[in-house]
Amino acid sequence: MISCLIVWNKATNLFKNVRNIFEKNEEFVFCVKELEALLISQDVNIKTAQQLVKNLPKSKDPIVVLDHLKKELLSILVPCEKKFVLPDVPLAIVLVCGVNGGGKTTTLAKLSKYLTKDGKKIGLVAADTFRAAAIDQVEVWGKWLDVPVYSGQVNGDPASIIYQSVDWAKPLGLDVLLVDTAGRLQNKKNLMDELAKIKRVIQKQIPEAPHETILVLDGTTGANIIAQTKIFHDITPLTGIIMTKLDGTAKGGGLVSLASLFKLPIYFLGTGEKETDLDVFSSQVFVEKLFAETPFDRVEPV
Ligand code: GDP
Repeated sequence: MISCLIVWNKATNLFKNVRNIFEKNEEFVFCVKELEALLISQDVNIKTAQQLVKNLPKSKDPIVVLDHLKKELLSILVPCEKKFVLPDVPLAIVLVCGVNGGGKTTTLAKLSKYLTKDGKKIGLVAADTFRAAAIDQVEVWGKWLDVPVYSGQVNGDPASIIYQSVDWAKPLGLDVLLVDTAGRLQNKKNLMDELAKIKRVIQKQIPEAPHETILVLDGTTGANIIAQTKIFHDITPLTGIIMTKLDGTAKGGGLVSLASLFKLPIYFLGTGEKETDLDVFSSQVFVEKLFAETPFDRVEPV
């Protein structure tokens, strides 16, 4: 099995920084203030940072502080750990949404790879008809992964494409349709109408669909992910999150805020550009990596 290790805290080593804060400051109260500022610099939002330091034990021992922080982080993250399991239905529909450029299409391919390993027969649906490149990209992934793709015309109606894709999937004996949807946040009204219509139309075919509505978020966009999640969650209730690009300069704190504010399941983390670069989210592993003393770089698959 291919595996790789990643570093999320390449930019700054949280462990060393926490230690420095507690070694350099005489007064405990200053340590707490600096610690709060450090967490905010790691993309943790203010409210969550305050929550994390609130019950800090009055100790200047960095190990005690780190242990406390880890426990607090886990108490936020563990409730968001949920295995991605699709219901046992003849055809499961998974809508994948997110802002353009965030890694939506790549994640579609990664999910396809992941579910294929479970023996599921997957079809990809290119329903982001706003950009020709988005349709092409899904088709390229389909060829690469040897997975069938249903795509519409550029500027076609996404809802009718998805409706047709259900009829297309049945004779092929597919178990799951992974649907790439548009991600134009600039026009919230259009996006809202489009996603609402997709749901309405698809429910004519499969009343309980979509079975999952997953938001893909770019981990390098910092605090922005909170605003994006709020908009998408308001438009269409999300059932889970996948955060991408945690192999780069992302700091990881954004995910903590997200978990604290929305409490949505975090299914996977994207850790690279290949179809295998998808890690099942584990709060324990995530927290350990946030504080890893020696940041480690990507280890190529062995
Ligand atoms: P979309 O516009 O949301 O569909 O985004 P794409 O799937 O086209 O991805 C945009 C860019 O991000 C591409 O260059 C992808 O290879 C890259 N990408 C996607 N996911 C990851 C990831 O987890 N890590 C890294 N480093 N790059 C990623």
